[in-house]
Amino acid sequence: MDLGIAGKKALVCAASKGLGKGCALALAREGAVLTILARGREVLEATAEEIRNATGARVTAIVADVTTPEGRAAALAACSEPDILVNNAGGPPPGDFRDWGEREWQTAVNANMISPIMLIKATIDGMIGRRFGRVVNITSGAVKAPIAMLGLSNGARAGLTGFIAGLSRQVAKHNVTINNLLPGAFETDRLRATFAAAAKSAGRDVNELHEERRRQIPANRFGSAGEFGAFCAFMCSDQAGFLTGQNILLDGGAYPGTL
Ligand code: NAD
Repeated sequence: MDLGIAGKKALVCAASKGLGKGCALALAREGAVLTILARGREVLEATAEEIRNATGARVTAIVADVTTPEGRAAALAACSEPDILVNNAGGPPPGDFRDWGEREWQTAVNANMISPIMLIKATIDGMIGRRFGRVVNITSGAVKAPIAMLGLSNGARAGLTGFIAGLSRQVAKHNVTINNLLPGAFETDRLRATFAAAAKSAGRDVNELHEERRRQIPANRFGSAGEFGAFCAFMCSDQAGFLTGQNILLDGGAYPGTL
């Protein structure tokens, strides 16, 4: 299927590794003109080159921290009028809520709620003017079914989800969609770090924990960044214009509810 986004400008945040990289690669395969950002130059440049070689796409790599106003300004200076915006940032650390003070909460809310909102605010009027816009926020399955040790993530992302539910309905008539893509367990550095922390706090072997978790997923495997990216690209497609304000869970069936 031709997704109809060849030549569209896409800004993909936190895209040097993991799910963000998966999204960038899938959009590049569809012919989007990419700007990707992450904090570490070396891995980011290597990812940009990998995507260019794999797809022939134009890729601009910007070293920036998406959670700072300066970082977002640098990204927007390189790609001021994106047609597609994929919001992503590292997730908050796991832990016990008794250990988190105001600073930890403010950091989490800034990274996983305020930063995507600021990027949407900076780009959405351009999308409205061009009568095409696709925003995908990478959030978490924890929005739908909270994960106890990821309380900072549960809380901060719920704030973004509530805001998007309202905003998406305000802009839908301009062919601008905003949706959230909720990863379950995907095999990335983030997942490995979460397992390491869980194993440490429970005094358990990390590989044992990894296998136990895998067996709990009805698909009997973890997700891949490639399949996450392909889904994201479809949500950014011309054909997905009637999909907005949704929280799409990709979790291999792990969420046990009927709806
Ligand atoms: P990852 O650690 O594999 O990759 C994170 C990417 O974000 C890297 O490219 C990193 O350089 C970049 N990054 C981190 N902080 C940044 C910042 N402040 N500014 C710019 N770039 C930044 O993580 P992932 O697994 O791809 O996770 C992506 C998001 O999805 C995270 O918010 C994570 O919490 C969430 N998530 C992941 C899973 C999973 O199973 N992998 C599950 C639920 C939610």
